[in-house]
Amino acid sequence: MNKKMKIIPVFVPHIGCPNDCVFCNQKKITGMGTVAPSGKYVRDIVEEYRKTINEDTYTELAFFGGSFTAIDINLQEELLAAGKHYKDMGVVDSIRCSTRPDAITDDILILQKKYGMDIIELGIQSLDDEVLKKSNRGHSRNDSINASMLIKKHGFVLGHQIMPGLPGSTRKKDIKTCLDSIAMHPDMVRIYPTLTIKDTELLNMYEEGAYKPLSLEEAVDISAEIYSHYAVNNINVIRIGLQNSDSINEGEDVAAGPFHPAFRQLVEEKLYLSSLIAALKNEELNDKHIIIEADDKLMSFLAGQKKSNVKKLMEIFHLKQVSFKKLNNSDEIIIYDKNKKIGSFDKSLIFQNYLDLQ
Ligand code: SF4
Repeated sequence: MNKKMKIIPVFVPHIGCPNDCVFCNQKKITGMGTVAPSGKYVRDIVEEYRKTINEDTYTELAFFGGSFTAIDINLQEELLAAGKHYKDMGVVDSIRCSTRPDAITDDILILQKKYGMDIIELGIQSLDDEVLKKSNRGHSRNDSINASMLIKKHGFVLGHQIMPGLPGSTRKKDIKTCLDSIAMHPDMVRIYPTLTIKDTELLNMYEEGAYKPLSLEEAVDISAEIYSHYAVNNINVIRIGLQNSDSINEGEDVAAGPFHPAFRQLVEEKLYLSSLIAALKNEELNDKHIIIEADDKLMSFLAGQKKSNVKKLMEIFHLKQVSFKKLNNSDEIIIYDKNKKIGSFDKSLIFQNYLDLQ
């Protein structure tokens, strides 16, 4: 039986970070101000979560938010020791952290190993030095390459976080970042299209006309392409789009940029739409009624939010109607014109289909 995943989040705010990236307002993202967590905080939060977990739960303690391996070494050890205590007891199954590429050395990784760290996510954001400079990241492409290599060498699970749409970037540069990241063989990836958050330098740049955020459509397009590249290389994309939380909401904290509360859903819909278009491209469908047969779980991706994919298909192929027939446990999507099968694709091919269309 697959265990249910439970994440115990410990937010490590800006304290660990020597930098001020133009897009970052860590205070807002963590929702915790600049108060540093302590060993006691870790113990309290694990005890709280412990009440809700059982042997069917896979529990991960996650040090998120700042640059974990850059925080004061004594505090780092205090937090790690609290985590290791619960890992040794079998309450916590794994420990993860996120950090900056220039905060990784052999010594730092030896320390993480000693305390049972399993997964290290690197905020590489871009692998273009000019983009990194314009974003005031304070590290280089080479720092990301070296850190990834060291994390792999020490036997950790490697995560990459990338941010399409940073200042100075282009679609070409963002795709190159993705391909260069793939060459480093990360085990998992998060794709966070850049948002312009209040109280950041990026907002000043936007207001002065020095930065143009991606539109929602552009961000969905580029994320679909990046997601597809990772997927065809069997790299797990664990998140697309910034987490929607009480503190990150359009109109509240997001001043500009491609925010959507269900961003990943939009990306998945785009991938399915492309495969539907590819499957039908040689058909003469004027004024016809097509039926799409697919697994129940795929229906929302195929139809799109507010039937957006249905509307696009009708427009592109001048269809009279699109309807759906639900199947159970099927990976194949089949399209009929009355009873005649006119196209099909396996859901595993949506990524390659999308790349073929670019
Ligand atoms: S490295 Fe991370 S925490 Fe530090 S300023 Fe940049 S985004 Fe914020």
